[in-house]
Amino acid sequence: MNSEASLPIAPAAPRARRSAQASVRWGARVVTVGGDAPVRVQSMTNTDTVDAIGTAIQVKELALAGSELVRITVNTPEAAQQVPYIREQLDRMGVDVPLIGDFHYNGHRLLTEFPDCAQALSKYRINPGNVGKGDKKDRQFAQMIEAALKWDKPVRIGVNWGSLDQELLAQLMDENARRAVPWEGRQVMYEALITSAIQSARLAEELGMRHEQVLLSCKVSGVQDLIAVYRELARRCDYPLHLGLTEAGMATKGTVASSVAMGILLQEGIGDTIRVSLTPQPGESRTQEVVIAAEILQALGLRSFVPSVTACPGCGRTTSTTFQELAKQIDDYLRAQMPVWRVKYPGVEKMKVAVMGCIVNGPGESKHADIGISLPGTGETPAAPVFIDGQKALTLRGDNIANEFHALVENYIEKRFGAMTNDAGLALHDE
Ligand code: SF4
Repeated sequence: MNSEASLPIAPAAPRARRSAQASVRWGARVVTVGGDAPVRVQSMTNTDTVDAIGTAIQVKELALAGSELVRITVNTPEAAQQVPYIREQLDRMGVDVPLIGDFHYNGHRLLTEFPDCAQALSKYRINPGNVGKGDKKDRQFAQMIEAALKWDKPVRIGVNWGSLDQELLAQLMDENARRAVPWEGRQVMYEALITSAIQSARLAEELGMRHEQVLLSCKVSGVQDLIAVYRELARRCDYPLHLGLTEAGMATKGTVASSVAMGILLQEGIGDTIRVSLTPQPGESRTQEVVIAAEILQALGLRSFVPSVTACPGCGRTTSTTFQELAKQIDDYLRAQMPVWRVKYPGVEKMKVAVMGCIVNGPGESKHADIGISLPGTGETPAAPVFIDGQKALTLRGDNIANEFHALVENYIEKRFGAMTNDAGLALHDE
């Protein structure tokens, strides 16, 4: 049968959106957001900020997991007092991740009355729905911007539909009521979210903020709502955009909803830094939100954080869980090593490992990986061919296949990504 193609099929790739570029700094560390910077991963602690040690430890965990910016809540004078100590603890531990202060209701007072806090933070999040009401609103917003100017910090105007500026919403609803054909309620809400963000950003600029040092977000908890709002927000401005689905939920639901919403927008070039707002399950590490954010970017081909492990789902051709266990073991091992390997083995994060369950797709998939193993399925000869750089390199047999493959992966990494890279290739081929 002849192919109907007259042109090659273009590979899919995320589009680029032009945006200004913000710089978030701490010491020598500069995290750029927007412009030509890679999409950044950020996260937020859930410790009580008053607990400086506990908060510093969690910030360190998040940073080691790959979070490039970490936000902490600054909700009381006691919390604001602890911020410089949190920063100091991190500096002592050699963790230079920039800290973002999350302010609501009293940010104007905290940033003014606790200058050490204002200085120790690298960026301020301002929620225009929570800066004050009536004539206090602009004054208190201006006080926060003054602090940002004084300490030379970027700000995020972070609008959230759960705390939307009620005065603005009421005004837009009045205007809507006068329309010949009124918009739907949710369309008025979209407009209010975007208007609140852009008006506040313009006001910040009128007060002296540099255009590129203002980031925006308009978070909602519905996937289709988020897509609608961010498409329009991206169309109306070039501020760097912080993207996230607010209150995404727990576990599978939160992960899937965040991935779907952000995946669609990131593919359209919308989003310069992302946060996955996952509710941790009891006992689950806070770092899970960083892992998922990184996986979203890696799945789209936007970034590489950890070597990827391709594993088949298994089916009736596999009656044991050997390949599932091996895939998990390898994946856990690669992730655990990354904080050290990032420095020791530059480029290792792009490596691909395959762990497959039987001969149907095992050899083919393994050949596409840098190193892959095709385990024997039910009824197959108990042998596991290993493929390295697309070539069958050796066959493992017996009860120790998992450990031997593990050693081969380590060996491959050392030889390919180690400082003394052996360009002559690997001496592992025995067949
Ligand atoms: S590779 Fe084999 S075991 Fe894995 S899903 Fe495919 S047919 Fe099933």
